[in-house]
Amino acid sequence: MEIINFLSSHADLKLDASFKDITTIKLGGPIKYLVSPFDMNRLKVIVSFLKEYAIPFKVVGRGSNLVCGSKTYEGCVILLEHINHYHFEDDNLIYVESGMVIPRLCNTLAKLGYSGLEFASGIPGNLGGLVYMNAGAYKKEMSDIVKEVLVLEDGEFRWLKKEECEFSYRHSIFHERRDVIILAAKLKLEKKPSDDIKELIADRLARRRATQPLDKPSCGSCFKNPDGDFAWRLIDGVGMRGYCYNGIEVSNKHPNFIVNTGHAKGEDFVATLNLVKAKVLDKYGINLREEVEIFNC
Ligand SMILES: Cc1cc2nc3c(=O)[nH]c(=O)nc-3n(C[C@H](O)[C@H](O)[C@H](O)COP(=O)(O)OP(=O)(O)OC[C@H]3O[C@@H](n4cnc5c(N)ncnc54)[C@H](O)[C@@H]3O)c2cc1C
Repeated sequence: MEIINFLSSHADLKLDASFKDITTIKLGGPIKYLVSPFDMNRLKVIVSFLKEYAIPFKVVGRGSNLVCGSKTYEGCVILLEHINHYHFEDDNLIYVESGMVIPRLCNTLAKLGYSGLEFASGIPGNLGGLVYMNAGAYKKEMSDIVKEVLVLEDGEFRWLKKEECEFSYRHSIFHERRDVIILAAKLKLEKKPSDDIKELIADRLARRRATQPLDKPSCGSCFKNPDGDFAWRLIDGVGMRGYCYNGIEVSNKHPNFIVNTGHAKGEDFVATLNLVKAKVLDKYGINLREEVEIFNC
């Protein structure tokens, strides 16, 4: 009771949530505590409390790169949906908090005539998740525009320079420092005519609609592209396009997307992922590396 009272005095608290509700692929089991802290200071207090009580925690953005197993997560999932403000600083620099939803931010920036984030307009994550993943598309990625990142680490707020984040292909230092929470980032943008930005976004979204199975729950591309090749081509090459298993389907439209057709479990997703990997390794000698994160499975 003490835990529930404490959490609910600093955050919106749900005790009956499931990973199905907070991930785009809609897979996963119950979550013991799901909290949305009211602000950064409340988040800091909650994290200290969880550490003191040795309760494991996991920050989740929009859950668009996460596949979770069906067992109960005996810890606390932290959403940053209330930590979602932004403001402009000097010199085309924008401060954006982690809970800001990316497609919404892209639309706002387009209206205001700020260019730089168009590549991300179809990525259904939030700012924190995109920084964590160094998300990218169309030969651009977050590290092209991130200047600094505000984090909560060891109970302190601290700004990290871009170089300290060690960004690389769909990777950042935060993968190795799991107890660090990304709170905000400063992004460097350029002024451009609003209509040009809107046109580029419309073009990017049309390309996605034409090539990705956006009508089915997914977590985007499951594997990173190996050097000089495409994961989808290798998956196609081993005959896995369209493969179905217990409600999991390797997409016909884009074989690097593995989708949930409605009745699947996270464990079925993992079994399919492993089968794809084994077949690609067997035929091509290439060890595909996951882009998607498997959690609590
Ligand atoms: C239809 C579709 C299309 C996609 N297209 C692309 C694409 O073009 N390019 C691309 O790169 N990705 C793409 N993705 C994948 C996904 O959207 C990205 O990986 C995105 O960056 C994940 O953001 P998120 O907020 O959903 O993070 P989540 O999935 O919620 O979390 C991902 C990881 O980040 C950690 N994390 C999240 N927020 C924080 C934080 N504030 N502090 C610390 N850790 C945090 C989580 O703990 C987790 O480990 C796509 C996904 C879908 C469903």
